[in-house]
Amino acid sequence: MTTTSREIHLVRRPQGAAVPDDFALRTADVPDPGEGEVTVRNLFMSVDPYMRGRMNDVKSYVPPFALDAVMQGGAVGRVVASRDRSVPEGALVTSGNGWREAFTAPARHVQVVPDRDDAAAYLGVLGMPGMTAWAGVEIVAPVREGDVVFVSAASGAVGSIAGQLARARGASRVVGSAGAPEKCRAVESDFGFDVCFSYRDGQPLRALREAAPDGIDVYFDNVGGAQLNAALIHARMNGRFALCGGISSGYDGSAGEPVTALGMAVGLRLNLRGFIVSDYADRQEDFLREVGGLLEAGKITARQTVFDGIDHAVEAFLGLFAGGSQIGKVVVAV
Ligand code: NDP
Repeated sequence: MTTTSREIHLVRRPQGAAVPDDFALRTADVPDPGEGEVTVRNLFMSVDPYMRGRMNDVKSYVPPFALDAVMQGGAVGRVVASRDRSVPEGALVTSGNGWREAFTAPARHVQVVPDRDDAAAYLGVLGMPGMTAWAGVEIVAPVREGDVVFVSAASGAVGSIAGQLARARGASRVVGSAGAPEKCRAVESDFGFDVCFSYRDGQPLRALREAAPDGIDVYFDNVGGAQLNAALIHARMNGRFALCGGISSGYDGSAGEPVTALGMAVGLRLNLRGFIVSDYADRQEDFLREVGGLLEAGKITARQTVFDGIDHAVEAFLGLFAGGSQIGKVVVAV
């Protein structure tokens, strides 16, 4: 029996910061599964900063979202009907079919995952953001015993895990930054960073010097701009930088904050390395073994901010850029 699903369409390419009128909530039919297909009722969908880039009609490492069509993104859901033996009814599955309540698709487009009470973890600590954090501290800017490590956007999905994984690797000091004092409190108390400063006071270099008086060995950069400048100036010799994201630097098409201190990399022999998480897809098992193990053992903390209902999905997404009160991975229960 065909059912319906509410879904979010991109109806206009944002100019600068995205606004609610760039999106529309629409209803679509969900057909019964044909041979080799499954119907999935999504439980949670992910909102991620990279999605803003996909709203621009430009060449990138992922194709742009089409206009007047449902957007894509990470989701976890339950199979409610199946005509494929490898993906049985009742299975918990992840997919790239977020931004909608339900869908019918070929079974090969979903991945069966072990059942767990906190299914949203597959979109955060056990999913793409967790893998990004792990790849950063394990491969891109490997953290060694005794390192002083700085992580920006430390209250977020990637940063909160990156700091904890740095600690697990023996970092002697882990410094974070976030926008609001209450976020900084969570970074220190929930995620175990030694200290967190608010970058909003406009003096990140001074704050970083106070937080790590002897300099930093590793910078996990989620934001670019002024904080990247501060990290370049305050790095120790042979410092390692994992360039993960640049949310302060023009995701909305603006010029963003300039990076002016790149010259420091020469004398300090810094290693600056950009990366995209999918580069390390072949290391997925290593990531799950380590991070899954730490999570089960209660040695890392993963927090989520849950928005309720697909009609709040756009609000959840826009909040990523607006410095709201969200902490940890932002998901929408759909
Ligand atoms: P978060 O959950 O951390 O959400 C984004 C955070 O960015 C917000 O909480 C906000 O925190 C902060 N922020 C927003 N605007 C600014 C600004 N102008 N200056 C500084 N901080 C800002 O997102 P994720 O953890 O999912 O992603 C973190 C970064 O990692 C992003 O840049 C993202 O694009 C990147 N990323 C890269 C991947 C890769 O493969 N390279 C994969 C996944 C993510 P606050 O309130 O503290 O400002």
